[in-house]
Formats: sequence, C-alpha cells, structure tokens
Amino acid sequence: MATAWRIPPRGTQYLSTSRLEHHLTGVAEALRKLKDRGYKLIVITNQSGIGRGYFTEKQYRAVEAEFSRQIGHALIDATYFCPHLPNDGCKCRKPSPEMIFAAAQDHDVDLARSFLIGDKKSDMECGHNAGVKTILVRTGYGKETDERSADCVARDLEDAANAILHGIP
Ligand SMILES: [Zn+2]
Repeated sequence: MATAWRIPPRGTQYLSTSRLEHHLTGVAEALRKLKDRGYKLIVITNQSGIGRGYFTEKQYRAVEAEFSRQIGHALIDATYFCPHLPNDGCKCRKPSPEMIFAAAQDHDVDLARSFLIGDKKSDMECGHNAGVKTILVRTGYGKETDERSADCVARDLEDAANAILHGIP
C-alpha cells in the first residue's frame, strides 16, 4: 500500500523552509498514523523553480531535507520532483503520471490501493492518469480547485489522512 502526496504550498508556488513550518501542525501526526498502517509516504512534486533558475537542485534538496527533519525521522519514504518548465515537453511534470509510475516501481507500490493528496487540478489529473484515488485538500491552491476533479475532498492533510484511515467509499 502507498500514499503519494505532495507538499501543499500555501499562497506560493515555490517552497521555502520558513513557509514549511506552518504546514507541520498536525501533519506529522496524521502521516505517522498512515505510516503505522503500512502506507508508504511519497512526495510527488513539480519544482519548475529549478528550471527557471529561481533556485538550484541542491537548494531544493536542502529544503526537502529540512522538511523531512522537521516532520520527523524517516517519515517520508521518497521524493520525486520534476525540475522542468511547463513548456520543456518533459515526460515527468504533473499531470503526467510518470513520477507516480517511477515511485510505484521503485517502492513496490500497489497503485490500486494508493491515494494522491493534492491541492491542484494537475494533482488530481496526475492521480487519475496513474490510476490512484485522488483527495483534494482545501488548503493553499486547493481553496479554489474545482472539486469535480477529485474523488474526495478533505479540509486539510490531516483530514485527508483520517479519511484514508477510516476508509474512503
Ligand atoms: Zn519534468
């Protein structure tokens, strides 16, 4: 079993460590519950800020490492990111399912029993393209995302984790 999810940005398209701290209340606990249930926690993220030269891949990895540190040791199993620009024509950028397929292969994930939690329409499309159930969180961009694009809607990541734990119809 696995859960594929992405770090929900709030009011910004790009990550920074200071912003990350705001996401962590309740999130670590919810993710730990999923982990205890046997889910793998994999981050699937578009990081076109790298391709745009806003930050380097090394800087992105530092943010990611800081996130992992803050959220708790070994909670996140893996991170997959697309560093390309929307018009680069790459195969990995969401809504392409390629990063999910790569994660499934690398981490022995059963996509039929997996979920993608995200806040954008491209996340929902990515999930559908990969054949996983999608959960739209109403945080960050998710406040405005059309809920018809999702299989299920949750208030936030904690709520989404609880929905998975209690069984989504
Ligand atoms: Zn890409």
